[in-house]
Amino acid sequence: MRLVLLGPPGAGKGTQSVILAKQYKVPHISTGDILRESVKNGASLGLKAKSYMDKGELVPDDVVIGIAAERLKMADCKGGFILDGFPRTLKQAEGLDEALKGIGSGIDLVLYFETGEQVAITRLTGRRVCRKCGFNYHIKNIPPKKEGICDKCGGELFQRPDDTETTVRNRLVVYEQQTKPLIAYYEKKGVLKKVSGDLDVQELNDVLSKVFSEAQLV
Ligand code: AMP
Repeated sequence: MRLVLLGPPGAGKGTQSVILAKQYKVPHISTGDILRESVKNGASLGLKAKSYMDKGELVPDDVVIGIAAERLKMADCKGGFILDGFPRTLKQAEGLDEALKGIGSGIDLVLYFETGEQVAITRLTGRRVCRKCGFNYHIKNIPPKKEGICDKCGGELFQRPDDTETTVRNRLVVYEQQTKPLIAYYEKKGVLKKVSGDLDVQELNDVLSKVFSEAQLV
């Protein structure tokens, strides 16, 4: 199963990726997670990326294409992968095509999570993340038992700096301008499948199971 999850920030790509990776035993590759890890570790990649990320802008194409290409070469990707948040520009999509050609692979399906703007804004501005284990909560939809504390590990919950309303709005503009053209790119290749990102987690997961069996991926 070689998947790309496409859709605006707040569409639920990360949430579904975590579930699908467990269900189908394939690695979840999120360029956002890799970049955040580099920022946390103070790696030079992180220093370069942080100013873009904090403003909700895209990190330069050559940087993220390099990250994704390296990750896809790893042995655990041989049986498939879920790409979450990559590609985000046409140049990145072409970079992905090149990288996959290099390892004799291709994309089976691009799932486009079509999502209403208000749904995305509400999800992102209400998101809280555990500083220790990275688990995601939502102040209304998935509240922790004790405010500000992770149910799983007791870690402190925080709001991502790019989840404030102003930055979220900018991320949505960036998505419209730079990422949306990928819908036509993958439609042309005949690999795009549209699903509703407005559904709740379980409903969407059920839809995806059907999509995979119809596409004979499982
Ligand atoms: P995400 O967690 O996918 O929402 O990504 C968080 C931030 O990381 C984005 O707003 C960008 O600044 C950066 N980022 C993640 N993936 C990419 C990508 N494929 N291209 C450019 N920037 C990215």
